[in-house]
Amino acid sequence: MKLNFCSLSSGSSGNCYYLGNEFHGILIDAGISARCIRKFLRDMDISMQTIMGVLITHNHFDHIRGLEVLTRKNNLPVFTTNKIWKSILTPTKKISQNCFHEIPLQQKFHLAGFNIEAFPVSHDAPETIGFHICTGDKKITIATDLGHICQTAAPYIKAANLLVIESNYDEHMLMNGRYPQFLKARIQSDHGHLGNHQTSAFLADIINDNLSNICLAHLSKNNNTPEIVLQTLQQTFSERGIILNGQQRISILNRDIPTDMIRLIE
Ligand SMILES: [Zn+2]
Ligand SMILES: [Zn+2]
Repeated sequence: MKLNFCSLSSGSSGNCYYLGNEFHGILIDAGISARCIRKFLRDMDISMQTIMGVLITHNHFDHIRGLEVLTRKNNLPVFTTNKIWKSILTPTKKISQNCFHEIPLQQKFHLAGFNIEAFPVSHDAPETIGFHICTGDKKITIATDLGHICQTAAPYIKAANLLVIESNYDEHMLMNGRYPQFLKARIQSDHGHLGNHQTSAFLADIINDNLSNICLAHLSKNNNTPEIVLQTLQQTFSERGIILNGQQRISILNRDIPTDMIRLIE
């Protein structure tokens, strides 16, 4: 069986990730337009018919922008907690209740051949979750919006073979940027986003031979660059004497265009 992962879009303007095998796939978040999602999948020769559902992490617009149209036009089932589902629905955003599949926290459920577990993360939405997705002996963890890595989330992140983790802002750029003080404080808080140094230090703590793919995600448009993310990580690893084993791959996920497909099982 094959196992492929790809980010269609990652960042504060829109998040959508694909995970699938040769038969089925799932999406994680739908934060870009449904039209873009369909086009990007088509460009990769992935049929919409093979997508069995979309997992939603939280109600922020950069994670649900295309959800209403995807459910209406493609009849895509939505998998999330009851609290997140309720927080998505607004008077203007009406998504049919028939699409909703309630998932529990920290209990496995099955979808498209994957064993999936949602875990809570600390972020400023009514509820925010990450996903730990297993198939065969491969484990994928996705944690895109979190102000800090709490004790509940850490084991799911540490266990990953492929990890998608936020590296949202460069601390210096944020502090010296033009955002108002309240917003800077919100972003830096435990319920905001992870900065490059926070993410790098955590990765330095947990890096192990089983962690073969690190995908740095959800970069801020105004307070970060891919070069600074990579530089911060390399500097942190070098200060800690960490040398990658040659099989380990680090990717910075593009903000607006899909990344190359990562083939976890060829
Ligand atoms: Zn976000
Ligand atoms: Zn968010």
